[in-house]
Amino acid sequence: MSKEFSTVPREVPRVETKYRRIATPLPHPDSLPTLATLRRFEPQSMRGQLPIVWDRAEDIFVYDRYGNRWLDWSSGVLVTNAGHGAPEIRQAIIAQVNRGLLHNYCFPSEERARLVEQLAALAPEPLQKVFLLTTGSEATECAIKLARAHGLRTGGRRKIGIVGFERAFHGRTLGAQQAGGMAGQKAWIVNEDPAILNVPFPDGYWQPDTRFDTFLTALEQRGFAPEGIAGVMMETYQGVGPDFAPLEYVRRLAAWCQEHRVVLVFDEVQAGFGRTGKFWGFEHYGVTPDLICCGKGITSSLPLSAVIGRAEIMDQFPPGSMTSTHTGNPVCCAAALGNLQKILREDLTGNAAALGPVLLAGLQRIQSEHPDVVGHVTARGLVGGLQTVRPGVKEPWHELAHGIIERCFHKGLLMFAPVGAWGQTVKIAPPLTTPRDALEEGLQVLEEATNEAVAALCSA
Ligand code: PMP
Repeated sequence: MSKEFSTVPREVPRVETKYRRIATPLPHPDSLPTLATLRRFEPQSMRGQLPIVWDRAEDIFVYDRYGNRWLDWSSGVLVTNAGHGAPEIRQAIIAQVNRGLLHNYCFPSEERARLVEQLAALAPEPLQKVFLLTTGSEATECAIKLARAHGLRTGGRRKIGIVGFERAFHGRTLGAQQAGGMAGQKAWIVNEDPAILNVPFPDGYWQPDTRFDTFLTALEQRGFAPEGIAGVMMETYQGVGPDFAPLEYVRRLAAWCQEHRVVLVFDEVQAGFGRTGKFWGFEHYGVTPDLICCGKGITSSLPLSAVIGRAEIMDQFPPGSMTSTHTGNPVCCAAALGNLQKILREDLTGNAAALGPVLLAGLQRIQSEHPDVVGHVTARGLVGGLQTVRPGVKEPWHELAHGIIERCFHKGLLMFAPVGAWGQTVKIAPPLTTPRDALEEGLQVLEEATNEAVAALCSA
């Protein structure tokens, strides 16, 4: 279970800079009743969050009610790519709300039509069908179904295997969690589908062997021939790192999928909409998947997700048999259209690309100061991570990541709490509207917080 942050109000040094303002004890004593209500009425799985009650959020800032302002490095878990509450998105939502069309499910709407057309235009050429859903898990779950249905149709009853990667995350529903590679989180499934399997993810750190042969060997060891595989689902970058696979590996994987008529699915739920400095993360590899799953940054606000793919795969189910009640909710579609307009018009993808090297250099500098406990750092575009290990050994050190994040919070820099079994990662995901000097200020804070957390834990 994730370690919890203290909710005992603490005096912390005052901070007042261009981007941050901390002027009260943290957590603020007046926020304690809200924290207690959540603790009382929500399942304990919702605990482990930083004790800050958000009051409002604006572009790259998060505010509480008590005069404190944080520089946001979470994007609310990689959602607000276009910044919090972007005026274009708010106006699009308000205009839709004021027309009174808030829901229409199984009737057509202009908003839905405009959005699917635009998403198809943004996807590479053969991916011209778009199915709107609500959450990332629904999108990955749907992709698993489409891949397996395609396998059955083209290769018969044997071609049903779905390959995911160790340590991958695709969501918490039955299929998504099985295809994902968080071993400890699957015990509840009991009867795991033997045709959903995981192979090593070639991150180059926890899995030093990054050759594509590791994929082939793992399939062989599990008794699967290519003819038995319907689909491969891969996070474009593996979220826990974040880590990209080597180019050569992915190119060989794509060629292998094509050769064996295996549906290649890229889970772009985190990577899409400019996050990595390319509009789609898979553009870094120079390959095109058969299906894209996306969500999060698609609206920078309201819940919406999508599967985008080739017609041959997307059109397998007859009319009325692949639907969902909130498909294409008009308010969410309006938010997505406003969001895409802002990302494209302001070239936020370009901003992420330009700042990627700054983020990476900052993380490498911190690593060079603490090489024995900062085991692995990565960044591309505006997503990065710093993984902590116990002194001198390649073993996750959750307490250190926790300590760094808590110290950053006290200094006015906000990141989400380290998650579960991969709690050694300090994950960095600022809105793509972040200017360079704000990123540099954040890196300075992260460096200070790391120095302090290392000193505190190493002297303990
Ligand atoms: N895939 C990836 C890569 C994700 O990061 C997530 C969410 N963190 C999901 C799928 C699931 O999305 P959701 O929480 O919206 O169901």
